[in-house]
Amino acid sequence: MFRNKSAYPVYMTIGNIPKEIRQKPSRRVWILLAYLPTSKLNHMTNKAARRRTATNLFHACLCHILEPLKVPGEDGVAMASGDGVVHRGHPIVACYSADYPEQLLTTGIKSGECPKCNVPHEELGSPDVPVKLQDLKAILAALSLVDEDFDLWRQACQECGIKPVFKPFWQDLPHANIFQSITPDVLHQLYQGIIKHLIKWIKEACSKAEIDARCRRLPPNHNIRLFLKGISNLSRVSGTEHNQICRFLLGIVIGIQLPGNLSNARLTCAVRAILDFLYLAQYPCHTDQTLALLDDALTPFHNNKDIFLDLGIRSNFNLPKLHCFRHYVHMIKMYGTTINYNTKYTKPLHIDLTKDTYRATNHKDEYSQMMLWLERWEKILWHDNFVQWCLIGDLVPQKKIPPDMDYRQAIKMTKHPTVKQVQLDHIVQEYGATFFTAALARFVVGINQPGLSAAQLEREAAHIIIPFDTVATFHRIKFNAINAHGIQDSSITVDSVHCQPSQKDKRGHMIPACFDTVLVNEGDGGITGMHGACIEHTGC
Ligand SMILES: [Zn+2]
Repeated sequence: MFRNKSAYPVYMTIGNIPKEIRQKPSRRVWILLAYLPTSKLNHMTNKAARRRTATNLFHACLCHILEPLKVPGEDGVAMASGDGVVHRGHPIVACYSADYPEQLLTTGIKSGECPKCNVPHEELGSPDVPVKLQDLKAILAALSLVDEDFDLWRQACQECGIKPVFKPFWQDLPHANIFQSITPDVLHQLYQGIIKHLIKWIKEACSKAEIDARCRRLPPNHNIRLFLKGISNLSRVSGTEHNQICRFLLGIVIGIQLPGNLSNARLTCAVRAILDFLYLAQYPCHTDQTLALLDDALTPFHNNKDIFLDLGIRSNFNLPKLHCFRHYVHMIKMYGTTINYNTKYTKPLHIDLTKDTYRATNHKDEYSQMMLWLERWEKILWHDNFVQWCLIGDLVPQKKIPPDMDYRQAIKMTKHPTVKQVQLDHIVQEYGATFFTAALARFVVGINQPGLSAAQLEREAAHIIIPFDTVATFHRIKFNAINAHGIQDSSITVDSVHCQPSQKDKRGHMIPACFDTVLVNEGDGGITGMHGACIEHTGC
């Protein structure tokens, strides 16, 4: 939707493209295949007839668009790969990435059911009821009855558990199984699905005032957005905002009081399990071990979800989006990590390929103008790429660094201090570093005369006279990631430490002081964990 207009773009990409390239809209890996009709068919007065016609129209359009895939999908077509070698390829529809209503529209499955398997609606919340992929053969047999006997066709479709759809687009596609092709979707199923529900349940379970107060109390931290007005009154929360809320959601729930003096241990366990699943599902690469973790991640949720029943927030968990979690491991094994089919990466295409395109028209009979504009725009881009290739030649293939969990960090200080001169007594009063002068004296002695005993050091330090009365202060320490080659990557800040006294902003409002607690590795600590780390409070 944009400017009271609506468009229904369909995008396509091919499977054998590295995901690092696929997730960058600027690399033009996705192409616009078509704009589907957005007509609401308001001239039809019968609601059911209108819905049926809209579904049939959708399938007729996609059938037309995908027609060119039928023969090459069956017989193969000669295609040159990047190295110039010609192979016989069979282009087939492998994945279909869409939100839940579109998944239903595509598969013909009834609302409230799983678009992939035969799980009954009342078992959607079950973690272990056996399920089977929809029986494509039986469904195709039922659909083929449409030309023979109308009543028989409707009855056969109903028996197979699908709506009677007139010739769905996948019916004649070679080697296609639409139920297999429906992919999980991190944006709509997790962030805008279960996470959205979870936040709503937490809001109902705990007092909104307490949740918002806890949001305000969160210390500022790198990678965490502070919701200083709280999260209970947000409206139209985007996927990005849900992502930001997830980063501190567990912290808010721990120890929160529940009505009726119910223990909140079960709530914490359930929330943690969903967050574990959320992050495991987004791993950039998987091993058998991480997939086993993903498979097990929801077990604590199912063991503790009764807390929401006891609180009277839910009466069941028959949510299709919750059930979909059961398909994740299989789908990752089939089609790669979830990054490959997350609709988050196709959303930005709407701007380039629809909104900007519409703006270039005179807004009358816009589609033909949009098509022409896009055709020219793509030609210019291709030509520009060609010119670049002529000038620079082939790009040297970069050695691929597999993604890993590297916790190493390198400190990065700014060239100039935040405040050039701070009086030593201000260091005590404003920064709370009460023993700064004494510590500085001990440090000077320690550097000049290493090897002194603690008592000797203390004695010597008492005689040190600090010959200045101001020091420079840095209010921020940043940490950069270290890449797989062991080189500091200054473009990625992985953490930061704040150390700043209270101050006034431009409007004269007070900004409270912020002194982070840090863990200092005293030399014998590991890359992770608390062993060998000493807790320090910045400032004091
Ligand atoms: Zn299912």
